[in-house]
Amino acid sequence: MTRIERLRKRLATEKLDGVLITSLENRRYYSGFTGSAGVLLIGAVDVVLVTDSRYWEQAGQEAPAFELEKQGPKLWVSVAETLARLSWRRLGFESPVLSYAEYQIIKPLLTVSELAPLDNLDALRAVKEPGEIKLLAEAARITDIALAKVLQVLKPGVREKEMALEFDYQLRLNGAEGSAFPTIVASGVRSSLPHGQPSTKKIEPGDLVIIDGGALYQGYHGDLTRTVVLGEASAQQKRIYSLVLQAQEAALAFLKAGVSGKSADWAARHVIETSGYGGNFGHGLGHSVGLAIHENPRLSPSEEGKIPEGAAVTVEPGIYLPGWGGVRIEDLVIVKQDGVRNLTGSAKQELVEV
Ligand code: ZN
Ligand code: ZN
Repeated sequence: MTRIERLRKRLATEKLDGVLITSLENRRYYSGFTGSAGVLLIGAVDVVLVTDSRYWEQAGQEAPAFELEKQGPKLWVSVAETLARLSWRRLGFESPVLSYAEYQIIKPLLTVSELAPLDNLDALRAVKEPGEIKLLAEAARITDIALAKVLQVLKPGVREKEMALEFDYQLRLNGAEGSAFPTIVASGVRSSLPHGQPSTKKIEPGDLVIIDGGALYQGYHGDLTRTVVLGEASAQQKRIYSLVLQAQEAALAFLKAGVSGKSADWAARHVIETSGYGGNFGHGLGHSVGLAIHENPRLSPSEEGKIPEGAAVTVEPGIYLPGWGGVRIEDLVIVKQDGVRNLTGSAKQELVEV
């Protein structure tokens, strides 16, 4: 089944005549159009892309299967006119994406009799196609290169911000169109901040350094975390690192198609809990990745859903001790029938002393 066929099946289940797509990721997923503005209208027969004059030529090239509706001065007026022509009655929309302000604008304009919120349309992107897995693998490969390069500039006195900039530069230099998300570099006591943004702090000998970043490659996101130490590691740093690694490896060994997100999370969490650090691993084990950096299903204590074959997920346990520092290890893997294919190649077997 093609992507649009799967979406139409969903529309039929929900008894909808069509759906209004406003998210960047779904717009690209269903049409191929990569522009920053525009909406899709997808029905049982018609597929229409409404966008403004900046993108008319590009839309024709990237989304040839879609009928191009040239937007006038007001996007929502053009959308309403198109919908009136299509004579749909029940229209679905992406409720997590369409803002309240937009909803207030479109509601009186539309001729449809019902606007139906769809809150989990993204689930249709959970199983990655072979072509998507190739793009994720390339994003992961570029990310590995950037990590190796950034470790070469890690020296006493280098600032976290400089490390992050070098990582981003290496991503671009090696073929990424950008960074998948703002690169995290957190060192020393700051490494206990799970999402510490790079600061002007100088990295000192003995500091743990968490680097978390990824390449953006043809719309797909890489995601990798490694924790290293500048200079010689202390016994405590080695101990925490090996605990996190043990937790990550337990989850990687457990993970396969059909297990719940909750049970995969527990595979790692119970290792950390039984060692007495349960309270220091506050976030979920991982998330799905694709055209968005954070997708569903998640690997977390609240994810009851099963992880399907072909899902792309991160496995990223961590232990964070305020006032001391933290360790996180993150790989990006594809879930298979009998296990996982790890797309991340960066070494992790021991705490690297740079
Ligand atoms: Zn990450
Ligand atoms: Zn992640």
